[in-house]
Amino acid sequence: MTVYLVGAGPGDPGLLTVRGAEVLAGADVVVHDRLSVASLLELAPPSAERIGVGKTPRGPSTSQEEINALLVAKGSAGLEVVRLKGGDPFVFARGAEEAAALAAAGVAFEVVPGVTSAVAVPAYAGVPLTARGLATSFTVVTGHGDGLGATPTDWEAVAQVGGTVVVLMGVATRGEIARRLLSGGLAPSTPVASVRWGTRPEQRTVRTTLAALGDADLEPPAVIVIGDVAALDLAWYERLALFGRTVVITRPRHQTAALTRRLQRLGAATIALPTIEIDEPADGGAALRAAAASVGSYDWVVFTSANAVERFLPLLRDARAFGPARVAAIGPGTAQALAEARVVADVVPERFVAEGLLDALPPPPPPASAGRGRGRVLLPRAAVARDVLPDGLRAAGWDVDVVEAYRTRPARPPPEALAAVARADAIAFTSSSTVTSFVEVAGPDAVPPVVVCIGPVTAASARRLGLTVAVEAAVHTLDGLVDALVAALAPTRQATVVGREEASP
Ligand code: SAH
Repeated sequence: MTVYLVGAGPGDPGLLTVRGAEVLAGADVVVHDRLSVASLLELAPPSAERIGVGKTPRGPSTSQEEINALLVAKGSAGLEVVRLKGGDPFVFARGAEEAAALAAAGVAFEVVPGVTSAVAVPAYAGVPLTARGLATSFTVVTGHGDGLGATPTDWEAVAQVGGTVVVLMGVATRGEIARRLLSGGLAPSTPVASVRWGTRPEQRTVRTTLAALGDADLEPPAVIVIGDVAALDLAWYERLALFGRTVVITRPRHQTAALTRRLQRLGAATIALPTIEIDEPADGGAALRAAAASVGSYDWVVFTSANAVERFLPLLRDARAFGPARVAAIGPGTAQALAEARVVADVVPERFVAEGLLDALPPPPPPASAGRGRGRVLLPRAAVARDVLPDGLRAAGWDVDVVEAYRTRPARPPPEALAAVARADAIAFTSSSTVTSFVEVAGPDAVPPVVVCIGPVTAASARRLGLTVAVEAAVHTLDGLVDALVAALAPTRQATVVGREEASP
């Protein structure tokens, strides 16, 4: 139906526009550059076809003609097609050629502008393109010529414009660019800031002068800013608590988003390595459906994971099905999953472990008062779980029905994912089962140097398997886990200051 030429922004997935996210969510086909950010591709429905095109460093490349033909073919087939392009689709991105091909073929298209690297990358490096007294204009130029190495731009004229010069694709030709800007009249001392992999955890800023630009140690992809503003250093991104750190997340695939987002906002790179997948219960869910049909006959329904909530609630036929039954959640994550379905947990213990839940639940009603409830507890949960909770509830006099809500099985990550994991700075474990399956899948030697666990039970499992746990979250939630990661990984700025004070006479 429509082909959307969508700007994906320069790398940080948070820089996609709202409209971009909207059209991705409705896509049948996503045609993306091979280096696109994976988390943006996840915004398309799981069923959408994903086609990687363009250049790969040493691999196959798709020609522009082939890409144009692909867009025309998919668009003519009546599909919703998203063509995802880095930065803005009409800034040095051949979006014009794609739009022209679609127009010529009579295929409807729409352009969703993106945040261009020309502006966003300097911003993430703390370099404003204009500033009072320093620059009243900026000129964005490609350093890439016609493929013959020469650049057809009139650089001497660019030098005469004044203001800030922003060069994209200029790493290879930086020597010639510098020479010609100098001959156009720019001073050799003109400040230069070159930013590689901007807006990503790999961001690196190199500062130099126009005279030294040709010999500066630069690698693509970089945005090169030339002008007085390049001397400014309003750094913020590179100072975030987890900037440049890589953290492995082992939650099941559909639960990684919240933790990933929090870590990315702190400047970290994340590797999602789901080590468990969630499966149907062995009986196909028959027992869970039966329990859901009679949920109102229980005094308490106790949820010990968001997974159990996500499996159980959709089976309820009516919003009022709980009737008099009260609801307990083991911790805030589980309570949040309930809240999303408009069920407010009556009890969330102070300690988010089975023992905490046992302490938080009241004793069963005495047998004589059997009017309401008969002291019955429903516990929908994973096939394999600790028996602390059912045993403890039974010891307290409750009649407990444990019902299998789902099964977990180890996932099989690809070898390249495991290699990346071994090079990461830290790994975050959110449950005992993720630790067990990680060690099973990756082996204890693949564990990154810093291991952080959400709570004492997970940490105990990790230690039992021979891992050294650096930090255990004080509060057993995702926020607590993020705080623990910061404590374990953030550069200890305060310690440096203290050290200096001690060293001074
Ligand atoms: N349409 C894109 C530009 C594509 S040309 C846009 O609007 O941003 C590719 C060039 O963009 C690279 O050679 C580099 O100069 C620049 N670039 C894109 N993303 C970048 C990033 N994250 N960090 C540094 N430079 C980037």
